[in-house]
Amino acid sequence: MKVDQQDTITALATAGGIGAIAIIRLSGKKTFEIMNSLFRDKKGKEKNFSLLKTHTIHFGYLTDGDKIIDEVLCAVFKNPHSYTGDDTVEINCHGSTFIQQQILDLLIKCGTRLAEPGEFTLRAFLNGKLDLAQAEAVADLIASTSASAHRLALQQMRGGFSNQIKELRKQLIDFASLIELELDFAEEDVAFADRTKLTSLVTELLSIIKKLRSSFITGNAMKNGIPVVIAGKPNVGKSTLLNALLNDEKAIVSPIAGTTRDVIEDEMVLNGIRFRFIDTAGIRHSKDEIEIIGVRKTFEQIKQASIIIYMIDANETSIEKFQSEMDEIKSGLDNAQVMIIPVVNKIDAIRDESILIAYRGLEHIIFLSAKTYLHLDELTEKLLSFVNTGKIDSGETIVSNSRHAAALFNAEEALQKVVDGIKNNLTTDLLAFEIRFALQYLGEITGEIYTDDLLANIFSKFCIGK
Ligand code: GDP
Repeated sequence: MKVDQQDTITALATAGGIGAIAIIRLSGKKTFEIMNSLFRDKKGKEKNFSLLKTHTIHFGYLTDGDKIIDEVLCAVFKNPHSYTGDDTVEINCHGSTFIQQQILDLLIKCGTRLAEPGEFTLRAFLNGKLDLAQAEAVADLIASTSASAHRLALQQMRGGFSNQIKELRKQLIDFASLIELELDFAEEDVAFADRTKLTSLVTELLSIIKKLRSSFITGNAMKNGIPVVIAGKPNVGKSTLLNALLNDEKAIVSPIAGTTRDVIEDEMVLNGIRFRFIDTAGIRHSKDEIEIIGVRKTFEQIKQASIIIYMIDANETSIEKFQSEMDEIKSGLDNAQVMIIPVVNKIDAIRDESILIAYRGLEHIIFLSAKTYLHLDELTEKLLSFVNTGKIDSGETIVSNSRHAAALFNAEEALQKVVDGIKNNLTTDLLAFEIRFALQYLGEITGEIYTDDLLANIFSKFCIGK
């Protein structure tokens, strides 16, 4: 990625293809000079873009010499009052791909270059218009496909999370400077930084960081959807349930055991939360090669799931067997946060009502008929209860970015070492070492500290034109 801020860059900001209108962005030092040469007003007169007011829009023609390319509207943003912080013009043209390409070619001929993915936002970051966490929220906002993902991105873009991190870091910096001072006077064995105060500060920071980090489970679920595995022996009705939930016929339903051989994934949005349903081949010890692969995949999927719907046929298995199967699944899980919902299916065709009584004591149990949709609403309510949407309504900060969660984890580790170190009379230089680490990890979240690699990694995932 070029982090060259001198170039004037351009790109199509709207989606590629034909549309009613298209917007081409132009940003950088030469923006106005280029527009002066290409834009003509209704009377065919030039305009001096440097003299125009910021945040104004101008109707006219985009021309290449004597040739008119299109009738356009140009929005003018003067530095520093633009998205990037540099002089910017957004050309609204007619959305033909031919026109779009002609304008881009013309702008390149005039000395601009095509922007890299995310380069407009990168410039905004480098010009201090937004910090790194906010820039990432812009990408999340564009990618959001559910109400919850949208709200999270919006919250992060408005900077609440960034301010919280900056504040934590600031408090730590004050102490870090005292510790560093001690290092300068190492010979004299003085302690400028009160260890009790340092312990209580770091403990407080740790509790905030832990809370933020644990919010990632909710945040990640809201942003990326909640992976739900439907598991159980063949023929209990897993595919039928998936179809009922998705209301379509994607999985193959058949009365022959072991039909669902592959892992099928589909999504649905329930009350603004995206659920990713994963139908599996079932857990049965099989000799069939393809099915063995399917069963292995089931276990892999179960490990990635946040919710496991574990299903049994109301007529077939005893509660002891059901419980031992669920225990087998639980023992294979590394993540204690997984919700297991036991589902007793086919209650529409139950032969012996008394079987159901034994199941009633199980936590989260649902008696279902996937075929007739009976109690399907209970199941969807249970699914929704996994996400604490109240957190987002109350404005509590929710971390939804895995990079931030990893940085918080690293900062937490370093700060824990500081607390332990103080207890064990660790030398000042080693304490200082861990504090510096913690500061670096926190700083990387908002971009107070960054490397070119970090920026390249983040912005390369953006779309072109953003
Ligand atoms: P899977 O192997 O677990 O995916 O099971 P399927 O969804 O393919 O279902 C196996 C058989 O059970 C099919 O014939 C379904 O029609 C039937 N079945 C599934 N759910 C129900 C239900 O709630 N009630 C009844 N009576 N039959 C069901």
